[in-house]
Amino acid sequence: NMPTVAIVGRPNVGKSTLFNRLVGKKLALVDDRPGVTRDRREGDVQFGGLVFRVIDTAGLEEADSASLLGRMRAQTEAAILEADVVLFVIDARAGVLPADQPFAELVRRAGCPVILIANKAEGGAGLGGAYEAFALGLGDPIPFSAEHGEGVGELHSALQATL
Ligand code: GDP
Ligand code: MG
Repeated sequence: NMPTVAIVGRPNVGKSTLFNRLVGKKLALVDDRPGVTRDRREGDVQFGGLVFRVIDTAGLEEADSASLLGRMRAQTEAAILEADVVLFVIDARAGVLPADQPFAELVRRAGCPVILIANKAEGGAGLGGAYEAFALGLGDPIPFSAEHGEGVGELHSALQATL
């Protein structure tokens, strides 16, 4: 059976951009407009000799309604349950925000292996945010850029060590 990798985090951290980079196709909708509802997507990945299934979890930008938050939470929980490893993504430029915490809590509670991705860190940006990410208690963050492909080698090593 193919191992499963779930990409988890609050909206707008770059989960779908990371998904697209791993799958190599524009299967996930990347959108910077607020309020866009995006479905869960899955893809098969071949990444430097690793073969796995990846799940992108949707973002609901306007998570101001209880039902939207609940749906997103349920979807994230389902993806984590299926996952052999979770890629937990933060926006290193924004740092760790209160909005990251409920998602981090779901991952901590599941107790499954986690790889912490400090995204949007291209060109050394967001180093402060990457340091903040240590405090999430999800391990050492990998400075990463889903858009520019930085940190891909470190992610590969981390996946290889975990899967
Ligand atoms: P999601 O809501 O977590 O799925 O985030 P998206 O993948 O839709 O990305 C949200 C926004 O962040 C988009 O405008 C992306 O272009 C941008 N983004 C994603 N990855 C990066 C990155 O590595 N660097 C920068 N600067 N922006 C990024
Ligand atoms: Mg998305």
